[in-house]
Amino acid sequence: MPELPEVEALAHHLRENAVGRTIFRIDVASLSVLKTATPPWTELHGREITGATRHGKHLDVVAGDLHLVVHLARAGWLRWSEALPHTVMRPGKGPIALRVRFSDGAGFDLTEAGTKKSLAAYIVRDVAAVPGIARLGPDPMAEDFDEGTFAGMLEGRRTQIKGLLRDQEFLAGVGNAYSDEILHVAKLSPFAIAGSLKPEDVQRLYAALRDTLAGAVVAASGKPAAELKDAKREGMRVHGRTGQPCPVCGDTVREVSFADSSLQYCATCQTGGKPLADRRMSRLLK
Ligand SMILES: [Zn+2]
Repeated sequence: MPELPEVEALAHHLRENAVGRTIFRIDVASLSVLKTATPPWTELHGREITGATRHGKHLDVVAGDLHLVVHLARAGWLRWSEALPHTVMRPGKGPIALRVRFSDGAGFDLTEAGTKKSLAAYIVRDVAAVPGIARLGPDPMAEDFDEGTFAGMLEGRRTQIKGLLRDQEFLAGVGNAYSDEILHVAKLSPFAIAGSLKPEDVQRLYAALRDTLAGAVVAASGKPAAELKDAKREGMRVHGRTGQPCPVCGDTVREVSFADSSLQYCATCQTGGKPLADRRMSRLLK
């Protein structure tokens, strides 16, 4: 799933390439993609793109007083083209969810791999009308997001830090991949209770959060959208690297599986050498 750094890179790409171009037309492959009925998408036709930005993991394409907001979900992506094909999109077929064609023939497709379709697009005058944006927690890359703010947010939280970091209402933009990375850099167990972290732990976690995301944003920006996924995967220290050596200490990266996701960590770096319980593994070993 694209997280803050990738969505930021996509917004950056659109600022460089789409701003100043005029929307010729928008094609929606399936009505289930579009979550708003008014204003209709045809209202974007003939409008110039004036900006592109990000709210958490939502991409916001601005055309005057209208916003095309997209949540790429788990398998969504943006595919840019200097010359979009003229083939007619067939509803319900293929990976394209929505196509934006500019008057000069360039444009982009919002695509979604797999059969479970959860990419969501909204056309709104006020981005706060998008439910997922209205409920977003603070952005960890915002200038006023300082260590004191973060420490205050963790206070009294009786939840595991891994789950909290990826909770969009707590913090905007971090998902399963970067929360694994941040906790590895901070040398903290994913199961540590947020409110029980010592001041020095909070300090390390705050630094890891900012540095990891800033590094990933720098690594991602300027890369063509098509290369971002590979760049993200290659830049990971523990996430998605089960069984491979930890780049810091050489211990084997371990995994804990849940019903619909898994987390990766290094026991030597993060849990005092003690592997975390993994229900699936223990079941398999019985
Ligand atoms: Zn390690």
